[in-house]
Formats: sequence, C-alpha cells, structure tokens
Amino acid sequence: MPDASHSSAPRDLDVAIVGGGLAGLYAIHRLRKLGLKVRAYEAGSGIGGTWFWNRYPGARCDVESLEYSYSFDEALQQEWKWPERYGTQPEILRYINHVADRFDLRRDVQLDTRIKAAHFDRKANQWTLRTEAGEEIRARYCVMAAGNLSTPRVPDFKGIHDFKGKWYHSGLWPHEGVEFTGLRVGVIGTGSSGVQMIPIIAQQAKHLTVFQRTANFSLPARNMPMTPEREGPHKAEYSARRAAAQETPFAIGGYPRPTRKTLEVPAEERAKTYEAKWQEGGSISYLYSYTDLLVDKEANDTASEFVRNKIRSTVKDRKTAELLAPKDHPIGTKRLCLDTNYYETYNRENVALVDVRSDPIKELTATGVRLQSGAEVELDAIVFATGFDAMTGALNEIDVRTGDGAVLRRHWEGGPLTYLGLMVSGFPNMFVVTGPGSPGVKTQMIASIEQHVDWIADTIDHLGKHQLDRIEPTPKAEMDWVHHVNAVADSTLYPLANSWYVGANIPGKPRVFMPYVGGFDRYKKRCDEISAGGYPGFTLSRHKADVA
Ligand code: NAP
Repeated sequence: MPDASHSSAPRDLDVAIVGGGLAGLYAIHRLRKLGLKVRAYEAGSGIGGTWFWNRYPGARCDVESLEYSYSFDEALQQEWKWPERYGTQPEILRYINHVADRFDLRRDVQLDTRIKAAHFDRKANQWTLRTEAGEEIRARYCVMAAGNLSTPRVPDFKGIHDFKGKWYHSGLWPHEGVEFTGLRVGVIGTGSSGVQMIPIIAQQAKHLTVFQRTANFSLPARNMPMTPEREGPHKAEYSARRAAAQETPFAIGGYPRPTRKTLEVPAEERAKTYEAKWQEGGSISYLYSYTDLLVDKEANDTASEFVRNKIRSTVKDRKTAELLAPKDHPIGTKRLCLDTNYYETYNRENVALVDVRSDPIKELTATGVRLQSGAEVELDAIVFATGFDAMTGALNEIDVRTGDGAVLRRHWEGGPLTYLGLMVSGFPNMFVVTGPGSPGVKTQMIASIEQHVDWIADTIDHLGKHQLDRIEPTPKAEMDWVHHVNAVADSTLYPLANSWYVGANIPGKPRVFMPYVGGFDRYKKRCDEISAGGYPGFTLSRHKADVA
C-alpha cells in the first residue's frame, strides 16, 4: 500500500516523528493510542530504517530472533514465526512490514521525506520541521527516532572518484543486489558488517582482499533453523521472558547471570566454560561467563586469549592468524561480532588480508587501492564496511535550533549532552529515542525502543492530564547525567577501546563515551522513578507563561 500523498498530508500535528524504522513505527502506534495526531517522516522509500538500508550479503541480526522483536502485543509475538535462530535482513524487514500492516501504521508514515531542519518557537510552543523538498510541518512535540547507526560513513580517501570500478557502502546497499562473480573485490573494514559479508563475498568473488585496520573479536553465531523445541517453550512463557529480560543489563533474557569472578575459578575450569560458551554461540552467553569480564583487565585477558587461541587454531597461515587476533582492546569493549565461518574464510585460496594499520591506505586509484608503502591492489569493486557517524550523526545532520538561539550542533560541539538520553536542555518538547546517553546500543535495541517510547508517551500523557504542554530538562540534570554516563563507563574496560562508542572512527569527532553502560535494568528503574517522582531534573510548564 502506498503512503499517504504528501500534498494532502496533515501539517499540524501533535507529534512529528523523524524516522520510520522500528522506533518511529512503534511511536506512531503508542502515541496514536493517546488520541494524538502523529506522523512519521522517513527518508527512505520504504519503512524499516536499519533493516531497509543494510542489505549487504549476510546482513543478519546478532541478537536471537525470539528476543529481537516487539513485545508490545502478545498475539503478534505468538503468531510470528521466525525461521532461524537469528533473523536475516530480508526476514526482519518482512516482519517490520507485517507489523506496519497489522497495526495500520502506514497511513501515518510519509516516505521519501528527509527532514533537514527542526526549529522550536517558544512563544508558539511549536516545532516546525522542514523537509528537503521544502514542506513545513508544525507539531507541539517532536520525537527524533532517526537511528543511531544510520549515517553511513565513507572515509575521505583521496582518489575515490578516480576509481573506475563500482564501490558500495554496507549501509547504502543497492536494492537489486550486487553480483560479485568473477570480480576482484576489496572489503575495507572488519566490524560487524565486514565480518558478516566477508565469508559470503569470498564465495562469490574471483578474489577478495580484506583491508583490516583493527582486528575485531568475533564469536561463532551458530545459526540454525528454528526448531519447535526452541520456539515452543519460549512462546509458552513469552511475557514472563520479556519481563525477565527487562531485569538484565542487556535486556536479553534466558542467560543465567554469572555468580563468580573469573580469577576465583581454576584455569582448567575456566577453559571448559569458555569452550562450552564458544560451542553454544552468541555473545551474551560468553560475556556472562563471569561477573567481572568487562571491569577487570586481568580477568578479561583470559577470555580474550581464549578467543585469540581459537583464531590461531582456525587460520592456517600463522602471520594472517596473528593479524586477525585482536590485541589492542579487551574482548567485549568494542561491539563483539558474531559470524558464520569468518576466520575459516582466510584459509581460502582466493582471500588475502592486508594490514592497513602498518601500511595505511594512501589513496584509491583508477584500478584499485594504493597503500602508503606504494604497494597497489588491483580491484574491480570496493565495499566500504567502514561504519557510521554513530549516535550523533543523524541528529547533527538536521539543523535543530530554537528561536532563542540554541543550536543543537553547537550544544553538542564538545560531545552530546542529554538527560537520560531522552531529552536535551534548551530544546523543549524534543524527545530522542536510543540516542547518546541511552543504553540503547548496548541492549536488545527493540526493548530499549519500546521502553523509551513508552516513557515518552506516558510523559506526554502526564503533561496533557495536568494541563501542561512543555517539558525540558534542566542544564544541571543534563550535566549530572552526562557525568554519570562517563563515570559508569570509566568504572569498566569500555574506554580502553577506540570504538564508535567514543566516536573514534570519525576523524575530529569529540572523544566522549556516548552509550550508557550501566545496564538496561538500572536505566529503566531510574526512568520509572523519575516519572513516578514528579519528573525531577525536568521543568514542566504551561507555555502561556511565555506569552504574557
Ligand atoms: P564499525 O563497527 O564501525 O566498523 C567499521 C570498520 O571499518 C572498522 O573495522 C574500522 O576500523 C574500519 N575503518 C573505518 N575507517 C577506515 C579507514 N579509513 N581505513 C581502514 N579501515 C577503516 O561499523 P559496522 O561494521 O558497520 O558496524 C557498526 C555497528 O552496527 C556495529 O558495531 C553494530 O552495533 C551494528 N551492526 C550490527 C550487526 C548485527 O547485528 N549483526 C551487523 C552490522 C552492524 P577501526 O576499527 O580501526 O576504526
């Protein structure tokens, strides 16, 4: 079904939503139930956000499908049948489209519409959003559901426009797919996207060269078809499982919490535990081996070394194995990848690994890649699996400002500032979903989306019931939250990694730890206490005061 026509679309809303992915769609559903007039604006030509854009070979979620799905409707979660342990991109996109149809969400999504500006007028107490095509939309509240890994980034390589072959970015993959058969392909980047696509492109291409700057830890996903034995018991107690997941740091249930510290356990027993978790597949299980893997370096070393040894025993060429074995960050402090045959792929005759840490890419040429040393790699196609301007990229692409002089890009110049990751001081009535300062990216994302959107909806409802129409965090509450986010991160090993969590992948981006790593459980409790306690740290008001 097509989206509503732009020309006849309502332009005076209660809530304007930026983004038509998992967050934007749930926001439509939840806010509509309050009787509000809402509409979501989506840059893509289809709904689905991340799962609409990231169509690279092998794209798949690394959280199990029975977990990585909406929980807000019992019938929906009972009826939907996931064919595999982990959802593929096409399957997840199919699910999102099913949800949109089932809950009649499409009529409030405007596709092919990129929001370029959002301006708040205090006197009118109104946001005005401007689209790329010049359309203006007015709304009392604005929900930024624009994603946190949604601004693809191609490094600024000299000569990129000279390259005569085709190049692609993982997050902007052509919908018609890409045929690599018979081609010499280069993949730049070995994060989650690279690790998923490399084994598949290697099977298609005549030759594959992987350009690795930083080796990443990857664990076997152990994907498999969904079995009745796995699905049945899970669905029989779905709501209890969802509730239990909310009591965990990653918002993922089903994994017993660790009880012992790593170094209390004899080395032989530890090795058995790591082996069992390696065989089981998945990252949470591995990181849950012991209580202190993410806070004690010596403890972490044991888990990191176990995986390095697995890489050494899998990859036949010793030099390649050593290059693939990560040594510059503790396991789990960068997003832990899950793969199917990633390390095995380097045993193929047609695959080569180039270490661009020791010999960086100098430029692209008409025929391929030239390294600093002068060495050249001839290529017919290049894939950039080089990541995203994470967490702040999507919002910084929008000119967000207020009539009294606040400019979001300026406010965030030294790093993003938010209260609870949900609101920004100086920008009333603007909510952010899974943005900086939220635990979103460190959790089962859909659980965070639902929690954030529920909190936002309850807050808007609270305002309405109290004849109020404005909410904004105090600068002090915002500062205290940012300090708390940093203090929590500093009590862990996370800051030891140069990751997108600290903006390290974007040259010139301020080095600030952006996600809240205190856990979904603690975060949700805090949000609930704040709403139940009369919103400390927020100023709630009725805007008529400004007009007087
Ligand atoms: P990423 O984790 O940021 O990885 C980007 C890769 O490109 C890194 O290896 C990086 O090296 C490399 N790179 C960047 N600029 C480079 C340059 N100038 N020269 C050479 N190498 C360069 O991006 P991603 O793999 O797209 O993943 C981003 C996030 O999306 C993940 O962490 C995850 O949260 C999510 N994701 C999830 C899944 C899943 O669920 N399975 C799949 C894909 C993505 P450095 O490390 O040295 O910077």
